[in-house]
Amino acid sequence: MTKFSDFALSATLQNALKSEGYEDPTPIQAQAIPLALEGRDILGIAQTGTGKTAAFSLPSLHRLADKKLGTGRNQCRMLVLAPTRELAKQIADSMVNYGRGTGLYVTTAFGGVPINRQKRALAKGVDVLVATPGRLLDLYDQKSLDLSMVEILVLDEADQMLDLGFMQPLKRIVKLLPYKRQSLFFSATMPKSIAELSQQFLRDPQKVSVAPQATTAEKVEQRGMFVRSEDKPKILASLLRSEDPDRVLVFMRTKHGCDRLIKSLDHAGIDAVAIHGNKSQPQREKALNAFRKGGVSVLVATDIAARGIDVSGVSHVFNYELPNVPEQYVHRIGRTARADASGIAIALVGPEERQWLRDIERTIKMKLDIEPLPKGFDKPEIEELPPPQMGGQRQQRFKPRAAGGGKGAGQPRGERKAGGGKPHRGKSTGGAGGGGNRRSANRGSGGGGRPQG
Ligand code: AMP
Repeated sequence: MTKFSDFALSATLQNALKSEGYEDPTPIQAQAIPLALEGRDILGIAQTGTGKTAAFSLPSLHRLADKKLGTGRNQCRMLVLAPTRELAKQIADSMVNYGRGTGLYVTTAFGGVPINRQKRALAKGVDVLVATPGRLLDLYDQKSLDLSMVEILVLDEADQMLDLGFMQPLKRIVKLLPYKRQSLFFSATMPKSIAELSQQFLRDPQKVSVAPQATTAEKVEQRGMFVRSEDKPKILASLLRSEDPDRVLVFMRTKHGCDRLIKSLDHAGIDAVAIHGNKSQPQREKALNAFRKGGVSVLVATDIAARGIDVSGVSHVFNYELPNVPEQYVHRIGRTARADASGIAIALVGPEERQWLRDIERTIKMKLDIEPLPKGFDKPEIEELPPPQMGGQRQQRFKPRAAGGGKGAGQPRGERKAGGGKPHRGKSTGGAGGGGNRRSANRGSGGGGRPQG
């Protein structure tokens, strides 16, 4: 078995790994670290929770510290692009921890916080900049960022970047970077659009992979329930009581849905917090901290806000509203059953969502176990869907009453834009935000009690 000592990582980094309590490399680390140390470009297929942050951070920090170059005004030597504020912050915190003692500076740039602080942090030049694409381009356009000296580029969660509409910003960013650089590209799934994007970023990449495309986390017990949309809040409350979960993530498609659900859980006497793009950055951090530290055991989130977030000990994932992109289901349920734990994923499938369930089951190549409803709830009035037709036409037949939906009826396609659609800029959406503080990996940041999986 590969050991960290097998890699040509500096003693400083090896020591930092010991302080993190990492004993052996994870499979993605075992594959990626030696290649990245050689300076190769990497195309990595891995989900969060596999240890990919360290897989790209350790070799990069080693290479940056090994060839200590100064940085000019507004320059950075390594650029890490992430889709959301939370993920960018999490990556930066990890890099500060891993790079303790190297003397390298790590900073962040994302929306939702004043840009001037970030400009000041960048002014003297930094070693590592972890950023979301929207704020990065804002800084560039305001002449506060010079990308001409980037030696290493990391693109994390590429598939999520494209879901968020970041294709054009990414294409623009790549043109601002030097041709001669190392690029490390990570995605949980590899649909055609991502493979094409990767070709623009990478040169002769080495492929490393820890999970085949869209494999459902094997350790997750997956169940479903056919429910009336209007019953969802009460059914969730009932399941939260009967399942007695440790820590629960509830996924919604829309920000407004999150807020509505928090209210109805509150009525049912269940304490829950929400993170989504309409929340301010301090609110998002507060909610996430309460959830991480165990003060609140139910976190209601949109995909965007929850993406890439590493919280250990999530026992249940509820798909309160099914995602209309099947791969998203895989990401969602991957939030549980991390680090050798097992987990349960329960989908509450409204009549309007049955076709999506079918798409999901086709993607994960298995059927969910459909369970009976809790006592006191009626079955939805929906006929069985006809068998799928060739040509992919969507079919759904409702009996008249079910078609109107109820208060809680999901509004499948239309509202998707609320969380997806455009690239995120500023504070109104879930994309970017947070501190722009210049932090020294040398001094360390304490990492804020980041759980270890
Ligand atoms: P990531 O996929 O980068 O979000 O990492 C998931 C979790 O695994 C984080 O909590 C890391 O601290 C932890 N982790 C990463 N590498 C290792 C390792 N080699 N040994 C133990 N834990 C690790």
